[in-house]
Amino acid sequence: MVDTHAHIEMCEGTPDEIVARAAEAGVDRILTIGLTEETFDVSLAIADAHEGVFAAVGCHPNETTGFTDAMAEAIDRAAEHPKVRAIGETGLDFYRDSAPPDDQRRGFLAQIEIATRRKLPVSIHARGAEAECIDMLIEHGSELPAVILHCFSDAGELPRAVEAGFYCSFAGNVTFKNAPDLREAAANVPDELLLVETDSPFLAPMPNRGKRCEPAWVTLTAQLVAETRGVSYDELDALVTANAKRALDW
Ligand SMILES: [Zn+2]
Ligand SMILES: [Zn+2]
Repeated sequence: MVDTHAHIEMCEGTPDEIVARAAEAGVDRILTIGLTEETFDVSLAIADAHEGVFAAVGCHPNETTGFTDAMAEAIDRAAEHPKVRAIGETGLDFYRDSAPPDDQRRGFLAQIEIATRRKLPVSIHARGAEAECIDMLIEHGSELPAVILHCFSDAGELPRAVEAGFYCSFAGNVTFKNAPDLREAAANVPDELLLVETDSPFLAPMPNRGKRCEPAWVTLTAQLVAETRGVSYDELDALVTANAKRALDW
């Protein structure tokens, strides 16, 4: 099993403990995401210390206020590290809008450019801006090796995401009672575009909702997604493990 989006340094316990608990649950590949320049070293050190952990480096849309060339250069430099497998998370977040929309767009475009040049996939954070994010990816990201829509949450955009060939990665919120539309989306994603993740420490899946999430719990989300698709856990495991290997080249 795989967790294609986690923030290991924000989870409960040491990285060693978190990775060990994940391995015990059968989760042997984790992409840990550095949100800002300040956390790149932390993410890369965790990836260096654990064979099955890889890193993404980027600037979260909410952290893009005053996005500068120097920030883009820091991401570009960090992306040279051999365990970096994606740029991100990047995208647009007009729900929390802690950064001005134009700064978010500038940061997003810069990261699409870095990922394209470095032939790395992007891990996309889209909230309250899903349609515009997809528009920008279609317009500016046609040369990207892969696009992963992390914490896929806008069922209405599923047809366009699938049409564009974007991976749809489901997090713990797909297990929440009030998310029948997301479960329907999870049931309808084509086999080859389906992924799962935790976004830990956030969005713990049922029955652990409200607790501090960690990568081991991606198994709960995967179990629910398997049920909605009418396949066994092992079949789902094989599918998302193969998809993640193709998308992230790990
Ligand atoms: Zn996110
Ligand atoms: Zn995240």
